[in-house]
Amino acid sequence: MTADAGQPAVASESGTVLARAEAEQVASRDAALRDRARRVIPGGMYGHQNAATWPAPFPQFLERGRGCRIWDVDGREYVDFVCSFGPIVLGHAHPAVEAAVERQRALADCQNGPSPRMVELAERLVELVPHADWAMFAKNGTDATTLTVSIARAATGRRKVLVARGAYHGSAPWCTPRPAGTTPEDRAHLIPFVYNDLASVEAAADQAGGDLAGVLVSAFRHDARFDQEECDSAFARGVRALCDRRGAVLVLDDVRAGFRLHLGGSWEPLGVRPDLSAYSKAIANGYPLAAVLGRDSLRDAAQQVFVTGSFWFAAVPMAAALATLEALEAERGIERMTRAGGLLREGLARQARAHGLRITQSGPVQLPFMTFTADVAAGTFDRANVFTAEAARRGVWLHPWHNWFLSAAHSDADVRLALERTDPAFAAVRARFGSDTIPPLTGGR
Ligand code: PMP
Repeated sequence: MTADAGQPAVASESGTVLARAEAEQVASRDAALRDRARRVIPGGMYGHQNAATWPAPFPQFLERGRGCRIWDVDGREYVDFVCSFGPIVLGHAHPAVEAAVERQRALADCQNGPSPRMVELAERLVELVPHADWAMFAKNGTDATTLTVSIARAATGRRKVLVARGAYHGSAPWCTPRPAGTTPEDRAHLIPFVYNDLASVEAAADQAGGDLAGVLVSAFRHDARFDQEECDSAFARGVRALCDRRGAVLVLDDVRAGFRLHLGGSWEPLGVRPDLSAYSKAIANGYPLAAVLGRDSLRDAAQQVFVTGSFWFAAVPMAAALATLEALEAERGIERMTRAGGLLREGLARQARAHGLRITQSGPVQLPFMTFTADVAAGTFDRANVFTAEAARRGVWLHPWHNWFLSAAHSDADVRLALERTDPAFAAVRARFGSDTIPPLTGGR
């Protein structure tokens, strides 16, 4: 939805983006909170929201959000192109979702048993996602991907799972990208392949031999710090055929891309249906929920695996998910994200060209990413850091090395405003590093 179609009014830009000097002079609430956090939170912050991994002047702490705008604790407003790293698909505080949440909260959230919303949501998902005959729910994407691996093993009685090298499937010991606190045994039964390289999947499957439980694959290649690669349909078809031939379970990790590319699952446009799919992020517009969807043949295995959690059955996130899916459909959310993402991509390509800077824009426009060619050549994010820092200073929140997310709340006007602010950010990159020697022929991809 657009900012003016039912969303609460957002403050105008004037007066909300503090001038650089002013922002840096005031005793910032963000700095004070960081000081306090360092005393009571290991490292001051952890995980993917640790602001130490982004350049200044990105804040660590945020106060509120409406539509595609967010405000930090020092009152600075940003056009948000990270969308909470994916969950915010309709815009922050979407009125219909918030109304459903309030209605459910007035009844109950966490009880001795689930509410009727759980059955309604499972029915809705089974109706929406063609490969799915049943649904199970949890909280985070990691819960969902972990459960898919357990179900694949329970169904096949085998151990080996193929995963793309460098792909992120969560933060549990079996899949975390950092080894601290894990043992080699935690990932002893994972065998890597290269995304979009079917021969490498065949080789990994040969290595697994008769012990192949499944193949876990993300919707497209969206490894942080790398240009993204859309999924090659021949690759998807080949992985499907391989799983069928070898009696292995094909799992689509749709945690990041789910409900942004296609409401029936991100591989629907490719005509390839997985046996299991994992969802979280966008499913409930910011409320904590994950889902595993599966086909009939895996129902018994799913039933055998004992998984649960104190908060997994909570009703409010399920009410939020029902409202989110309804609004995505009714408001043609994916079309809106595609339009806004397309405008952003065109605008950035034009600006980079005008400044003599070579960039690559990759991935679907709803989950875009941009790198500077000279950064990639040097193996750095120097230009990306300057670009995103200068954009943030002017009130646009992008990420230097992780893909961005569009929401249905990004209107043409929001994208235009953001582009007014990214132009000087490109100028700052050029002033600092110079323009590229090879003139761009086509602009951003
Ligand atoms: N799979 C994919 C593809 C993801 O992008 C993520 C999160 N970035 C996860 C799994 C894990 O989700 P969560 O952080 O909610 O546990």
